[in-house]
Amino acid sequence: MRRPRGRRPLPIRLLLLLASAAVLVAVDPACTGPATVRPLIPWLAPPAPNAIAHGVLVTPTGVVAPILASDRGGAWVRTPCFRLAWVKRGTRIDAADIVLDPGHGGPELGAVAPTGLEEKVPNLAIAQRVAVGLERDGQRVVTTRTGDAYYLTIRTRSEIVRALNPRLVLSIHHNAAGPPPRKGKPGTEVFHQRDSEPSRVLADHLAATIVDAFSRYDIAWSYEEGRAGAQVRISEDTGLDYYGILRYDGTIPTVITEAAFLSNPAEAELLATDAFRQTEADAIVAGVRAYLRDADPAPIAPPAFEPFPAGPPADAEDCRDPLLA
Ligand SMILES: [Zn+2]
Repeated sequence: MRRPRGRRPLPIRLLLLLASAAVLVAVDPACTGPATVRPLIPWLAPPAPNAIAHGVLVTPTGVVAPILASDRGGAWVRTPCFRLAWVKRGTRIDAADIVLDPGHGGPELGAVAPTGLEEKVPNLAIAQRVAVGLERDGQRVVTTRTGDAYYLTIRTRSEIVRALNPRLVLSIHHNAAGPPPRKGKPGTEVFHQRDSEPSRVLADHLAATIVDAFSRYDIAWSYEEGRAGAQVRISEDTGLDYYGILRYDGTIPTVITEAAFLSNPAEAELLATDAFRQTEADAIVAGVRAYLRDADPAPIAPPAFEPFPAGPPADAEDCRDPLLA
């Protein structure tokens, strides 16, 4: 008997139906963020919860996500909220020389100046300028946060670092609750890792280049003897580095720059300008250059990373992931 024209045999139709179902995606009901999607029929099994990330995927929306497993159809990645997501497209980056980590983001504003300036804004703007400067030097740079509408848990930031195994990490912040302003030196603080000599050297260079660049501005700076320059901050509870992003085993030199005080209106006004942001970025680039000139160029092994939870918990209900695609 002849089949009606255009009708395929039943087994082929069933196969086609199955294939089209497989490319549909569905929101994972266990997660609140819109980005946490998985294939309806995943070709690649989800990775174990403690899977180690290798490389990052820059998704079509610009989000940087550590890759836990991948094949030609897509990748299982960690979202900014430290959830698991399946992403079908993006640009893969396997390694970086320098990771820049602009602090805060989205609803996590960081410090807020009396002028209304939210810390997350200059943190990102200056990180982007630092990236341009370092890339001109031929460095491969990845920035953990690429927009102001979302934030990342400390665990995700740390996992990006680990997945890229860079030579150094700069976490870019700005300060608050500073000492009373006075004419003289800026009170720039740069925090280094307790047990890492390279981290201390990097912090020394950065404190010197930032203070030197800021000293050209004739304003009253928040400054207090003993609370300025390169330093460590230790947790009274644990005896470890207070800041989560610094708590590695020390094989990747990491520092936090707190270059200017948003709590000082004069410094906040400067931080709102493009010219001052460029001054700070240039000073950070100069500090990194000075460090790399002296640093041992030998490649280092990936760190035995301990993903201490710090900052908001990884599964914070109020953490909303951005769209990944
Ligand atoms: Zn901050």
